[in-house]
Formats: sequence, C-alpha cells, structure tokens
Amino acid sequence: MLKIAVLYPELLGTYGDGGNGLVLAERARRRGVEASLELVAMRDELPAADVYLLGGGEDGPQRLASDLLAHNGFVDRVTDGSYVVAVCAGLQILGRTFCVDGNDEYQGLGLVDVVTRRGEVRSVGELCVRVGEQLLVGFENHGGRTVLGEGVAPLGRVLRGRANDGEVDGYRTDRIWASYAHGPALAMNPWFADEILGTVLGQELDPLGTAADLLYARRRQILTAGLAG
Ligand code: GLN
Repeated sequence: MLKIAVLYPELLGTYGDGGNGLVLAERARRRGVEASLELVAMRDELPAADVYLLGGGEDGPQRLASDLLAHNGFVDRVTDGSYVVAVCAGLQILGRTFCVDGNDEYQGLGLVDVVTRRGEVRSVGELCVRVGEQLLVGFENHGGRTVLGEGVAPLGRVLRGRANDGEVDGYRTDRIWASYAHGPALAMNPWFADEILGTVLGQELDPLGTAADLLYARRRQILTAGLAG
C-alpha cells in the first residue's frame, strides 16, 4: 500500500496544492498499485507515509506549519526514508531559514541547505521550467527569493517567471522534490507525477493516456515550438 499524506491543508491549502496528492494516488491506482490518501489536520498526529505533500500558503500559516513540523517527528520520518513533494511555502519551510511578515527571518526545518529571503517585488504569474527533456508549467505567487547552498541541485531551469531567482526553480534531493509551481503542478504535469511515483515505488511505470497526459503532450509541443521560434 502506497501511503500519501497531504500535510495541513487548512494552513497550506491556499493554492489547491493538495490536488497533487489526489493525482499521485489516482495515477498509482491506475497502475494497479493500492494507494491511500490522508489529509492531515493540525490537531492530528503525524501518520507514517511514503510521501508527504506540503503546499503553498500565506506567511502566518506558513510559520505555524513550520513550528508544527519541527515538533511532530516529521524531520525524523524524512531522514528515515519518507519522500516529500513541496511547493512554495512548503519548499521554503524545508530550508534553513525563510522570511515572514516583512523581513523577519524565521527558522526552517533545515532538511535542505537553502535560505529564502524577501525579494523587492512579489513574483506573480505564469511559470515555465525546463526539467531535463520535460517542461514544468504552473503559476507562482510568492515574495521569497530562494538561494541554494553549494551542492544543492535545482529542480529545473526557468524559461518564464522567476521561481527561486529568475534562473532556477526549486531543488531536488534524493528524497525531496521542491518547486514554486502551483497548479496543482502534478495535474498539469503528469510526467512529474510519474517521476515521483516511479521513484517512490522503485518501478518503471507504463504511460497513461488520460486527458491530463494528452493535454500536457499538446502543451509541451506548443510551448517547445514557441520557445524555438
Ligand atoms: N509566504 C511565502 C512567500 O510569499 C509563500 C507563498 C506561497 O506559498 N505561494 O514567499
């Protein structure tokens, strides 16, 4: 049984990133893999899970989520082998520090050597990122600028939008995928959902021909032609 847990949707649910959990569960089931999807509320104990999902949110809820995660065993679970998919506020929380309420620096979980400072302007709009042969599309809405520590690999290279700094988006470690893309990103980029699932399950996955896959293939074609032209 593949266990998927969406953490604190009441705090980190502003952008519908919880939909990433639905996509992972459904794409697993369509491959004959049993999957459970749990929405974990603030008052709940942290369940064991193969994959935890963290979404985006406003500064106040972000700080609260970070406090909860620092004291509920989450860091140990990830260190012990759980995977994490993190978007925007979630991405910032996993790092060393982030800014809330203006420029106040706040302690993150320190799972990844990244820091997020406040940018001069908010980054709002379409985001398009090249990840290997694929395109990751979504939208961004954040005030933070994220700086990766030496040796931390970005998830991809920005083609449109700002993400971390106008150059790269998010980061990728052996256990964590982090991006600034809302969407929910896994609904708009099914290849990304399959990369995550394939890694977590340790299997090569057969392609699916869902509407989301067909739409992504078409979008990729159009964007690739546009980028070349
Ligand atoms: N509060 C953070 C910022 O503004 C994250 C925003 C978000 O998750 N969309 O940078």
